[in-house]
Amino acid sequence: MILSKRSTEPGINIFNGRNIMKAFAMLGIGKAGWIEKARPTCGPMDAIVRPLAVAPCTSDVHTVWEGAIGDRKDMILGHEATGEVVEVGSLVKDFKPGDRVLVPAITPDWNSLEAQAGYSMHSNGMLAGWKFSNFKDGVFAEYFHVNDADGNLALIPEGMDPVDAVMLSDMVPTGFHGVELADVKFGDEVLVIGIGPVGLMAVAGAALAGASYVYAVGSRKVCADAARAYGASEIIDYHNGPIAEQVMKLTNGQGVDRVVIAGGTVDTFAEAVAVLKPGGIIGNVNYLGSGDTVNIPRIAWGVGMGHKTIKGGLMPGGRLRMEMLAKMVTSGRLDLSPLVTHRFKGFDHMEEALMLMKDKPRDLIKPVVIIDPDLY
Ligand code: NDP
Ligand code: ZN
Repeated sequence: MILSKRSTEPGINIFNGRNIMKAFAMLGIGKAGWIEKARPTCGPMDAIVRPLAVAPCTSDVHTVWEGAIGDRKDMILGHEATGEVVEVGSLVKDFKPGDRVLVPAITPDWNSLEAQAGYSMHSNGMLAGWKFSNFKDGVFAEYFHVNDADGNLALIPEGMDPVDAVMLSDMVPTGFHGVELADVKFGDEVLVIGIGPVGLMAVAGAALAGASYVYAVGSRKVCADAARAYGASEIIDYHNGPIAEQVMKLTNGQGVDRVVIAGGTVDTFAEAVAVLKPGGIIGNVNYLGSGDTVNIPRIAWGVGMGHKTIKGGLMPGGRLRMEMLAKMVTSGRLDLSPLVTHRFKGFDHMEEALMLMKDKPRDLIKPVVIIDPDLY
């Protein structure tokens, strides 16, 4: 059982020897493996969902191997899934068993004060809208629990592939949120640091938001090719010298208007500040898994007066966001299929898929594990 302030809520498993299901979990810092746990129970506003397809995330890697959110014992991993509703609570109005749904990684408490203030992802505490594989069990299980089903689920639109649609749980909303945080406007020159699946969605989002030039930082060819296809003008390999130097060269010493950070380390901020024009904005969505402080270079920050803004945010979740982003796909403006480079058939491949995310082989963007045999 997970010890958190939410441990008495419905959906937190209490092992009672009945209704046992199989799941893939964090066993402790540095350890992940298969466990058996009681099937979650459904509160009046909630849903119980069986996964159709799931994806491991780089955040699962930070959580398990870097201990980035602290220790967790037997916490089921995963927060990216599409699924089929198997049970709903008595107060759920818009979903019923059999519905096929998009499931956001972030499932806020919509009646919280933080949500009313516009920061639903921090509902009831910093980052506390991120419940799956953080405050409660995640989606790598035969069944998982969704709080506030009407507020947090969305129907998979007609014709959308439930496997590609897993990218709507986290990769699309996070990459696009980086673009929102950086407030990209028509004509902006934008630097996107990191072109894993999140950074690629930041490239796509920046292009859709009207960027004139998008400089994208990464080194693996599969990601560079996808970045070009999503709208990157130039690819910068961070192994070829400091990012800031390479950007200044490409921009004739002018720098960029906006930076989205979707990769790198605590030291990446110094490079981002160095290339940002006065008035520029950095939008960080990178999960800083290690390091104690972020250093801001004093001179490059205009000795504290450079009008250079740094913002960082957890992606917004919830139903409306899922529905809006799904329309970007059904309208043909956003193609999700290039993100999914590895497709595994069957839950038994969960560990293999997670280890791919940890090891990042050169041909990987994102693996998906297809759980429902009808989708093989
Ligand atoms: P990936 O690991 O797949 O991609 C990271 C990218 O950063 C790669 O392109 C990599 O290049 C590049 N990179 C690595 N090291 C450096 C460096 N030193 N300098 C510059 N670039 C570097 O990650 P994801 O795309 O899956 O996720 C990105 C981040 O977003 C993660 O930290 C993840 O946890 C976080 N995240 C945040 C969320 C939020 O809500 N804010 C939600 C989901 C994820 P290379 O080509 O060499 O591999
Ligand atoms: Zn994730």
